[in-house]
Amino acid sequence: MKNLNPYNDDPCSFLDDIIKTKRYSKKDPNYRIRLNVLIPNVKLYYNDYINAHNINNHLSLSPSISDNQNKNDLLKLYSSKDKKLIEFKYSRTTVYDNRIKKICQYCTINSCNTLDHIVPKEEYSEFAVNPLNLLPACSECNSYKGKYWKKGGNRLFLNLYTDILPDEQYLFVDLIFNTNQIEIKFKLENINGINSTLFNLICSHYSKLNLLNRFNTNSNEIISELIYQIKSFKNKLSILDIKESILDQIKSNKKEFGYNYYKSILEETLINSDEFIIKYT
Ligand SMILES: [Zn+2]
Repeated sequence: MKNLNPYNDDPCSFLDDIIKTKRYSKKDPNYRIRLNVLIPNVKLYYNDYINAHNINNHLSLSPSISDNQNKNDLLKLYSSKDKKLIEFKYSRTTVYDNRIKKICQYCTINSCNTLDHIVPKEEYSEFAVNPLNLLPACSECNSYKGKYWKKGGNRLFLNLYTDILPDEQYLFVDLIFNTNQIEIKFKLENINGINSTLFNLICSHYSKLNLLNRFNTNSNEIISELIYQIKSFKNKLSILDIKESILDQIKSNKKEFGYNYYKSILEETLINSDEFIIKYT
């Protein structure tokens, strides 16, 4: 999981560009006229969003649109097929190098095929196409997230634009050696002094997106690949050299995919386990 660079051009111009792409519809000839009345206010709300974004306090935002017609008009601006929005998704996902360009950073498992609304569009229709409120994500994460984003005055999910992820390790894995297989249990622990508010938010994010279970499920393939990799070098290199070279690879993957990238955490735990090396390689 890595932070993403937020949109740094004017969000109001982004909104104008989206509106320009909306075609005149015979079914609803007054749509444009209604938008013309609505948009100046929406742009004022965008200023509130920018302030909330800058101080990373989205809880300070109150929904401003209550009229159903206005809500529907603003929600209609958002379409997953909109060229501008597709282009935006692509631009956010190419901040880092090509290898991770399409990986959902909420889970680091699936490809990004949707845009998540950081504050939900159903509640805040005024931000349905605000680029600071749109974060590329996979449909699985997006559906786990749904419309819920806060509880009892706390946010439930990390905002990968504004919550700066720690460089310290918080994701760990227990290996349980059964007769024929290794049971994998990912867990979160704050043993490296991460700020407790941030750590609680990380725990909530992982729990609501079911990440630990999803990591456990994805582990078999990672284990098999690692075993194959070690075995294929065994005739040429000593086990210490193999370990060193794989640990170097893990180190560079962590830089690229995040210090708590689940695949690297699992590989590192396995390669440092004598029981794993003896039984499986
Ligand atoms: Zn995801």
